[in-house]
Amino acid sequence: ENRIVTPEYAGEDFDVENSLRPKTLSEYIGQEKAKQNLSVYIEAAKGRNEPLDHVLLYGPPGLGKTTLAGIIANEMNVNIRITSGPAIEKPGDLAALLTNLSENDILFIDEIHRLSRAVEEVLYPAMEDNALDIIIGKGPSARSIRIDLPRFTLVGATTRAGQLTGPLRDRFGVILRLEMYTPEELGRIVKRSAGILGIDCDEDGARELAKRSRGTPRIANRLLKRVRDFAQVLGDGKIHAQIAAEALSRLEIDELGLDNIDRLILETMIKNYAGGPVGLDTIAAAIGEESITIEDVYEPYLMQLGFLTRTPRGRCVTLPGYQHMNQSPNRTDEF
Ligand code: ADP
Repeated sequence: ENRIVTPEYAGEDFDVENSLRPKTLSEYIGQEKAKQNLSVYIEAAKGRNEPLDHVLLYGPPGLGKTTLAGIIANEMNVNIRITSGPAIEKPGDLAALLTNLSENDILFIDEIHRLSRAVEEVLYPAMEDNALDIIIGKGPSARSIRIDLPRFTLVGATTRAGQLTGPLRDRFGVILRLEMYTPEELGRIVKRSAGILGIDCDEDGARELAKRSRGTPRIANRLLKRVRDFAQVLGDGKIHAQIAAEALSRLEIDELGLDNIDRLILETMIKNYAGGPVGLDTIAAAIGEESITIEDVYEPYLMQLGFLTRTPRGRCVTLPGYQHMNQSPNRTDEF
């Protein structure tokens, strides 16, 4: 899939994505509440010479969870090991990761809601008592031995905290919700990234990119790189409002950051289902996308804009949603 406004990591140049990651809390733009609290916890833990309490970061993809985990490690002066829920297949995989940590290290598990139950159970004593319970043997002669682990901090990231099991969620001392960024904050992120990448981008250009980035730094950075190409080929290489607007319209990203799939969702709901209520699976089948993708990727932004609502009977297009599509709820014969 080649969707430019997807907030998920889309295999872009890993080095570029990494070079754009802030390394310290003060470089990290926005998320003021999370930052203020974190800086207190970090200072306190350092003062006691203890590892930081386990931290759960949640919020939509591309908002800076991995970045924040790296910053925590940097501010604590410890190493970070990065893995993800689906990558840890067996309890033994997790045991290997845990036994290889050094004192006070950070283990970052992205998509932590996707850990299997068996793996999750290894995590409980590790988080609570810094211990690993290993079962030796089978059947009646099986017994459990306990191995001590170094003290460590688990930083977990998930798109939805509600998907975590209760026992796992309860073992995090710090739970931080990341919010979508304001256009002003995204403008600052675009300017900062442009500076690092050596791109000439003025205030108005940055603002134009920011307001079409769906509240998401990853998308802002991606749009910056694509628009740079247009600026180079069609203009003088500089990004200003006009070239940004032209490039984005060629990329079929409208003035609110919706792309053709967002618009297809709204159009299909209006045209085929009278604006709803219509079930998620029905919409998914009609446009040929996975339900989970619609739910995790498209819907949150459409809902944030107030174009879509969830009701017990299904999804509905709102009046502003109709208006954005140049439709009226009573006349659906226009497409
Ligand atoms: P997540 O783990 O939530 O999917 P990432 O941490 O990988 O998101 O962030 C995606 C990109 O957005 C990174 O390249 C990073 O440089 C940028 N980014 C995220 N948050 C910020 C921020 N607060 N300030 C500046 N850049 C950010």
